[in-house]
Amino acid sequence: MTSAATETVASAGFFEKKPLERYVAPAKPSLVGFSRAALDEALAGIGVPERQRRMRVQQLWHWLYVRGVQSFDDMTSLSKELRATLDRHFTLARPEVAAEQISRDGTRKWLMRLPGEAEGRPHEVECVYIPEADRGTLCVSSQVGCTLNCTFCHTGTQRLVRNLTAAEIAAQVVLARDRLDDWRREATSGDEPEKRLVSNVVMMGMGEPLYNFEAVRDGLGVVADGDGLSISKRRITLSTSGVVPNIARAGTEIGSMLAISLHAVTDELRDQLVPLNRKYPLAELLDACRNYPGLSNARRITFEYVMLKAVNDSLADARALIRLIKGIPAKINLIPFNPWPGSTYECSDWSQIEKFSEIVFNAGYASPVRTPRGRDILAACGQLKSATEKLSARERLALRAMAMTD
Ligand code: SAH
Ligand code: SF4
Repeated sequence: MTSAATETVASAGFFEKKPLERYVAPAKPSLVGFSRAALDEALAGIGVPERQRRMRVQQLWHWLYVRGVQSFDDMTSLSKELRATLDRHFTLARPEVAAEQISRDGTRKWLMRLPGEAEGRPHEVECVYIPEADRGTLCVSSQVGCTLNCTFCHTGTQRLVRNLTAAEIAAQVVLARDRLDDWRREATSGDEPEKRLVSNVVMMGMGEPLYNFEAVRDGLGVVADGDGLSISKRRITLSTSGVVPNIARAGTEIGSMLAISLHAVTDELRDQLVPLNRKYPLAELLDACRNYPGLSNARRITFEYVMLKAVNDSLADARALIRLIKGIPAKINLIPFNPWPGSTYECSDWSQIEKFSEIVFNAGYASPVRTPRGRDILAACGQLKSATEKLSARERLALRAMAMTD
């Protein structure tokens, strides 16, 4: 494998890495995460006649995404012959779990190992499950690493970048449901949908989803399909650092809820925190938000705002934030900064976060402060970084110490 897995290019005055690694399909691919179109193509490839394919796809869909079966033998509505043929050409393998960690607060993090390029080392990506009283949210990754370099984000420091495939994106939901025994729970819960542990999905793991648009769109199509995994688009939130040209497309082609990583109210500061701002400045970003297809009071945009001590957390910033988003049906999500080894920022003091939040609330916006979850296992926002670029034991200890002094 090339050691220069990524290169840094200067483009429009900001620095962006290019994904240089590609997905290379294994000789015997897994069907897990495949869309209907991909399943149809797979069946055509093994000689299933066209007139049968629609029905076969429907049957496979049910076994894959309602029952979660892990063996072709369990697909009892398919003939023995077809099961054997499928078994010869495909697998039902989930992404390999290289490590599972469970936080003191119940948050779970899976480090998934995905095939690397050619003989190269495997790629690793993280997926986090966050249980709450009324929902269970799965934080899904869209890329190995991230092509962008937000200065407060651990993922942004990772050099290796590759886009995940649509199937790899959807397969994260399948994997989480396996690990949580969620298929069986749902099947035995009768009319109580709350028994389902994975009820919501946020595209807030590693990567910038709008820089891997087609795969994210198709992967989320599998996740939202009402005859399968059935997580409605209202329960899926896509978070972007502000890839303006793809925001309208996300509204029409994906139709999920939208979150914007705003983090600053002036271009001067946002240029530093989110360097993509140099390409798509605040005025353009907010215009794209105002025009987001389907925007209404029932479908608000969430503005995420990471609280960085003495950087963006003054009460004047809070007031400017209100002015900036005026007229946009919105929620504001204040995220306490999650430190990581080597980060140069500090989290705002709680008293300051409270004062900031009060201004936002008094202006009529819901402004939940996102409770940091899973900090002890480095699962919180912006802490994700795969073990390909592993932290030393010392760094982990340092981080844990930080988490415990909150
Ligand atoms: N790339 C996308 C989605 C993944 S990041 C995006 O940037 O929106 C998910 C959220 O975590 C974003 O709002 C991001 O800005 C925030 N985040 C990143 N690093 C963080 C950190 N160290 N502490 C708190 N939030 C962080
Ligand atoms: Fe990438 Fe989002 Fe991290 Fe920025 S905050 S580096 S866009 S993952």
